[in-house]
Amino acid sequence: MQDHVWQAVLGEIELSVTRASYVTWFKNTRLISQENNSVVIGVPNVFIKQQLETKFTDLIKTTLQNNGISPKQIEYKIHSGLVNKRPKEESQPALHVETPSSSTSGSTTQKTTSSLTHKYRQGLNERYTFDNFIVGSGNELAHAACQAVALNPGKKYNPLFLYGGVGIGKTHLLQAVGNEVMKQNKNAHVVYVSTEQFVQEFIDAVRYKKNTDFAGYYRNADVLIIDDMQFIAGKDKTQEEFFHTFNALHQANKQIIISSDKPPKDIPTLEERLRSRFAWGMSIDMQNPDFETRCAIIQTKASDSDAELSQEVVAYLAELVESNIRELEGALNQLLAFCEMRGLTPDVQIAKTLLGSVKSRPKHVSAKQVVERTAKYFDVSMDEIIGPKRDKDIVVPRQIAMYMLRSELHLSFPKIARELGRKDHTTAIHSVEKIERELAFDPSVKDVIETIKERLYA
Ligand code: ADP
Ligand code: MG
Repeated sequence: MQDHVWQAVLGEIELSVTRASYVTWFKNTRLISQENNSVVIGVPNVFIKQQLETKFTDLIKTTLQNNGISPKQIEYKIHSGLVNKRPKEESQPALHVETPSSSTSGSTTQKTTSSLTHKYRQGLNERYTFDNFIVGSGNELAHAACQAVALNPGKKYNPLFLYGGVGIGKTHLLQAVGNEVMKQNKNAHVVYVSTEQFVQEFIDAVRYKKNTDFAGYYRNADVLIIDDMQFIAGKDKTQEEFFHTFNALHQANKQIIISSDKPPKDIPTLEERLRSRFAWGMSIDMQNPDFETRCAIIQTKASDSDAELSQEVVAYLAELVESNIRELEGALNQLLAFCEMRGLTPDVQIAKTLLGSVKSRPKHVSAKQVVERTAKYFDVSMDEIIGPKRDKDIVVPRQIAMYMLRSELHLSFPKIARELGRKDHTTAIHSVEKIERELAFDPSVKDVIETIKERLYA
């Protein structure tokens, strides 16, 4: 069987399973061989192998039959080269980014990037690559856009703006772009900077009168990656400086990539002219990974640590942590470390004992429960808290409920507004921000929230 037949088989399968299933289980498979009534399919890891064996073998058989192949046996082989192999259309020879330095003769020898000490490599961590990023529902679009940008910086989607909740892979993708660009061209000026650092450097530059160094460094970038843009809120002078940097780079067709925990329109006190600049390119909303994607992430991280996890343990972890992949990794690492020290094989029982007691798991809690718990704490009724009244003794509980929906369940602002009977999501933004501010300097607010949380997860 030739590869195009397998591509046809995949095409059919894609139509009969969900998008997320397809991306997670099928997208990175390929045909290894077909002989004597047996078909061997290459898969990226053991978890995908198990899933295909147990859940999808019938589907694969039928689809093969539809394409004129009736193997007696289907075998799955782990093929390490397949881990998140890039889609075909993007593996063409990459275009080199423009280099300001005249000679590019060295760029054809693409050796490892680890020995680079170029100062325009600052801020990049080689740990984050496309290869170790699991593509699934929620991040697929962001991943595709980042790959496109990495292979063609400054040409497409400029600026690229990624936004989404905590721990869902924004920094990982941004860094992967930077690393990939450096891999394509080791002379590229890639600058990765957190917004906080950018703000700090700007303040220092002004203080020590080194504005020109600062501006020069950033305006000389081929690719400027700026992470967590929400922290520029309220920093007027820095916004102005960034605005000029942005214009200089954009005009020169240099790539700008930005991340934030919310879309530009929801970043308070973001200057209108920056907001409109961000709208020039592409904004992508990153969503929480679904169950299957979380499973795939755990399995990959486990095998990176040379640990074997049963499907049950993987599923248990994936259910335990639903949104934040950093927490998911944390739970996995805790489990692996615990078992390694004691020479145990991880199982669900151990995982439960070790991690099950961890409170603040959004898992068992619905939005309604959060609102109910909050209302109950303040002794107001559900009708009141979601109703129209604006008395202070109802407004505060309502704001706290909104804050809790954000901090515990990571709901979007429009959803939060809806849960509390509000049409306008800016009310939710203002409420969450107000409580965040109060939390910073009023310990009694913190106590209230802690108490509600305790009761919520009790
Ligand atoms: P964010 O910047 O959105 O808060 P990070 O990019 O820091 O989140 O991701 C948190 C952790 O989860 C990192 O260690 C990252 O490598 C990992 N991670 C997130 N998404 C994925 C993914 N799809 N595949 C593999 N690892 C991921
Ligand atoms: Mg981040």
